[in-house]
Order: sequence, then C-alpha cells, then structure tokens
Amino acid sequence: MPYKARSVSFVLKVLRILNKRMKLTEDDQRYYQNQEKGFQGEVQFDVLTEKLKRSSYILNDLQLEHNKSSFQLDSSLIFQDTYSLFDVKNFEGEFVYDAEYFKTHSGRDIQNPLDQLKRSKLLLSNLLQSVGSKLTVEAYVIFINPQFTLFQTPPDLPFVLPTQLDRFMKKLDQKPSRLNQSHKNLADQLISLHQLVPPILQLPAYNYEEMKKGMTCSKCNSFSVTIVGKKLICNNCGCIELVTVAVMRNVEEFKLLFPEQKITTNVIHEWCGIVDSRKRISRVLGKNLKITGLGQWAFYE
Ligand SMILES: [Zn+2]
Repeated sequence: MPYKARSVSFVLKVLRILNKRMKLTEDDQRYYQNQEKGFQGEVQFDVLTEKLKRSSYILNDLQLEHNKSSFQLDSSLIFQDTYSLFDVKNFEGEFVYDAEYFKTHSGRDIQNPLDQLKRSKLLLSNLLQSVGSKLTVEAYVIFINPQFTLFQTPPDLPFVLPTQLDRFMKKLDQKPSRLNQSHKNLADQLISLHQLVPPILQLPAYNYEEMKKGMTCSKCNSFSVTIVGKKLICNNCGCIELVTVAVMRNVEEFKLLFPEQKITTNVIHEWCGIVDSRKRISRVLGKNLKITGLGQWAFYE
C-alpha cells in the first residue's frame, strides 16, 4: 500500500475537461495525449513498487518546492538509508541516445530526461538536508514501456530500461529497510509540503464562451444524455447517474476550469444546459454547497 496514493494531476484533470468541451489544437492534443500516457506509465510503475516486500514508505507524486524552485517527483521510496526517487517515462519506439535529445527517425525527438532528474535530485537533497534528514538520495529514470528501445545508451547512466526493470526491482527489494519514527515523520512532512496545484501551469488557453455547455456522462463523456425523473441516462452507453450527483460533478469541472468565478444558480444552469428548471439547480447547489448572500446576489462555495 502506498503511503501517499497517486491521483490524477491537476493539469491532466483540466486537460480531460478541455478535451471534451473544446477543440484542442494539434499541439495541445498531443500534449494532452502525452500527459495521459505519462499518467498510465506512472500507474504501471506503482503496481511494481507495491509488490515490493521490503518495508518502505511509498510516496506517489510529490509536487515540492525548495528555495523558490519547484520540482515534481513521480514516485519516491523511503528506505532505511536511502531516498529513492523515480522519474517514470512511458516513451514508446526506437530512439538513439544523445546527451540533449533522444533522436528518432520520424524527427519527433524527445528531450533527454537526465538534466531534469539531476535537478530534482539536487533540490530534494537540499530539501532533505534542510529538514534534518540524513538519507542519501538515489535518482533513476524508469522507462516503463516494453516497446521502448534506446540505442547507444552509455552504461553508467541512472536509466532503467524495460529489459532491466525486473532485475532492478529485485535489487530494490534487497535494500535494508528497518524503518523508524524518523522515516515516518519525513514521509508525513513531505506529504504536508505537497502542492495540489503546481505553481507553473502548462495549459492551453481557454475561455468560457468557447466551452461546450451541457452535462456529460460520467463513464463515456458523451453529451448525449437525457433526464428522466431523478436520473441522468446516457444515450450512448446506457450509464445511469442521479441528476444531483451529475450536476455536482459538472460543478466540479466548472470550478476546476474557472476557479475565480462565483458559483451561482444562473451560471450552473447555463453550464449544465439540459436541466430545464433553475429551481432544480438551485436545490442541488443548496444541498451540497454553502450559500452566501441573498436572492440574485447569492453564490455558493
Ligand atoms: Zn455514457
């Protein structure tokens, strides 16, 4: 069991909503697909770390800051003497190693993740020092996709290629792992420092007007849904959800995209589209959120 479980990142959550509610440019679409793929790769690596028998604190996804520099760790394992951090890459295809880029035939080169790894390692080491931890930081790039090949990789790099992964995990499982309160304290401290929203957001530009309004199915994301009584029924996959739950799910989407905007009955009525009565929206919001103000000035938090 991970001590800190992985959840979908803020950026990926927003990208998923944007992808269904607006037309992404080709570049943004690729960026979104890469994020989605990266997340899947991380989840695959989580399966491997959870299989380890030695005790360690598993911290999945940490967004941290030290000396005003922010850094993100895909996966961390706190052992007795070491802090092992992993940058997980779900690259696919054949590449040729180069100090700056992994080169490919198609010309779609990928930046060598080594610099990023070194930076994270240094910042984490400094952060650990500042909180009095004496753990040695080990950092690796994990290439999780079995369809990934990197030709001419120098042997001394902290890279774990798909063919080496099995052996690597076995080696991790031999680390000394007598954990005490100080390890737990460190894990707790890092979790408390974790930032839910990264300070620098890489997101496509978007605005309210261009968003497709309406409620979507929770399973297949289709906008083709019908309200029958208290239920929202998807015309595409047949999924049934309570209207109350569906409205709140769509309110959450709105809040993620427009955190500055006030939640009012009018706004959500327009956002959800297919709920015909404003009263119904107002009832759902009233039940689930706290109302501030009166009448036309009322908003929900
Ligand atoms: Zn559906």
